[in-house]
Amino acid sequence: MVAYEAAGFMRSDGHPAIRLRVSGRLMLACGVCLGQCPWVFESERELVFMAQDIAGAFEDDPEDISDVLPLEGQLVIEELVEDEVLLCMPMAHAHAPGGCPDGAQAARAKQPNAFGVLAGLKKH
Ligand SMILES: [Zn+2]
Repeated sequence: MVAYEAAGFMRSDGHPAIRLRVSGRLMLACGVCLGQCPWVFESERELVFMAQDIAGAFEDDPEDISDVLPLEGQLVIEELVEDEVLLCMPMAHAHAPGGCPDGAQAARAKQPNAFGVLAGLKKH
């Protein structure tokens, strides 16, 4: 379950921007037991739209922490939300030490091919 809120506005420097808030609770595979492990996240990002030719100079400004997007084509908000979720997603995720459910541990013992389990999880 992922929820998002996008608010468009005009920045004081004249560039259109979106303030994107994304939050949610997803099930990731635990790095220890490969069982399902809930991951809760919340993020807020300001995305500024500008023509490609001036975006390079803008990104070099250390004072501005906004992310720059090219001002072209049609905006697909779901893609921005998806990118944000992927950016927030941890490289490694696991239950708290000792917190792996017994059932998941047992399932791992019966399944010798860890990559097969991962492939199965990716389908959901
Ligand atoms: Zn675990």
